Amino acid sequence: MQTPDLDDDDNNDQSDWQNQLDTNAIEKAVQAMLSAFGEDPQREGLQKTPQRVARMYVELLAGYQTQPETVINGAIFEVQYDEMVIVRDIEFYSLCEHHMLPFIGRAHVAYIPNGKVLGLSKIPRIVDMYARRLQVQERLTRQIADFLRDLLKPQGVAVVIEAMHLCSMMRGVKKHDARMTTSAMHGAFRSNLATRQEFLDNISRGASQLRI
Ligand SMILES: [Zn+2]
Repeated sequence: MQTPDLDDDDNNDQSDWQNQLDTNAIEKAVQAMLSAFGEDPQREGLQKTPQRVARMYVELLAGYQTQPETVINGAIFEVQYDEMVIVRDIEFYSLCEHHMLPFIGRAHVAYIPNGKVLGLSKIPRIVDMYARRLQVQERLTRQIADFLRDLLKPQGVAVVIEAMHLCSMMRGVKKHDARMTTSAMHGAFRSNLATRQEFLDNISRGASQLRI
């Protein structure tokens, strides 16, 4: 088999946002890492690994290039509705910024409208936009909550995220539980205990143990 030409630009068919990730630099870095591991980057199984990894990061880190306006795409509606809207069990995959290993889990999002609601399918896409970056779980949680607060100016917004961190699990760090729960609350969820409790009761109802 031929040695992959690292300068060969085979990304011409990719859209502009994908090209903003320097895939050539990623390929070179992965090849250097393979050598550093003591591997032979030229052996058959590894020859295309740098390219595969670069393409994978284009997908896993797509959140950096996602434009919030494209995600929302006009799906904000004026309504006279002021009950709690809850979207629970939103599956997500992210990468911890400390080890670049996955953390995987589910997000629960709630808000109380103040004249405006968002199309339901948009909330998982907002979670995805922030998950597909190098993250820490606390920041991911806050970014989703802040985004919805700024977008909808609701009476309140709450986000709870439960996730399993492969960097803890694979490395066998026993002191740090691999499962972590984080939350971010604004407005009524912060100031009103009953509101917060209603949300927390709802997301714990029938909840199964997080597993990967
Ligand atoms: Zn980590």
